[in-house]
Amino acid sequence: MAGLDVIHQVIKTCEDCDLCWERTNAVPGEGFAQAGIMFVGEGPGFNEDKQGRPFIGAAGQFLTHLLESIGLRREDVFITNMVKCRPPNNRDPLPKEIEACRHYLDEQIEEIAPKIIVPLGRHALARWFPGQSIGKLRAQPKVFGAVTLFPLYHPAAALHNGGLRSTIEEDFAKLGALLADLGGQPSSPQTNPTVKSGPPVTVRPEAVAGPEPEQEKTDEPPSQQWSMF
Ligand code: URA
Repeated sequence: MAGLDVIHQVIKTCEDCDLCWERTNAVPGEGFAQAGIMFVGEGPGFNEDKQGRPFIGAAGQFLTHLLESIGLRREDVFITNMVKCRPPNNRDPLPKEIEACRHYLDEQIEEIAPKIIVPLGRHALARWFPGQSIGKLRAQPKVFGAVTLFPLYHPAAALHNGGLRSTIEEDFAKLGALLADLGGQPSSPQTNPTVKSGPPVTVRPEAVAGPEPEQEKTDEPPSQQWSMF
């Protein structure tokens, strides 16, 4: 294992696909290096590219709110994306870009060894469930080896469809219930919370029933204009 810092240094100078030519900063991800829970988005947007940090725009602020709603802080979890460099004009990442970047996510997962991975939106969902619908799989735990997958709508979906906001909040509450079932629910938002990495757990299925800058990446629900701004 290379170590998270080493992986992130490599990502910052990566030239494995054409996204590197237009980036300001690569965005490896950030958070707790031994987090029990990891969130995987689609790819950096305008603000993330400028600052080299994931989920810091409007969708990121909603994600932070959602985390806090279940007693977690950003620094208690690990947050990253399928592709580590911003697709031009925030278009969808191409399959070849996702493929070129895939090994970085694999290495991060191996290093962090989270108990729960939360794919946010359809691109991240496809990493584990190709061809399947986020609308159908969302908020249902799926045990995948030593890890439980818990797919959710991308937070940016709520920015374009206000009606989805309460759905996403309810789904997050289910994630909180899953954490509690695994013994990781913090007693208060300010305590040192989260599920710590450790031996694999099996989750009982019944446990959880400018211009550009303002624009946010999103992708749900399908077949409307959510796939990008
Ligand atoms: N959307 C994503 O998928 N990732 C980010 O980092 C920001 C917005």
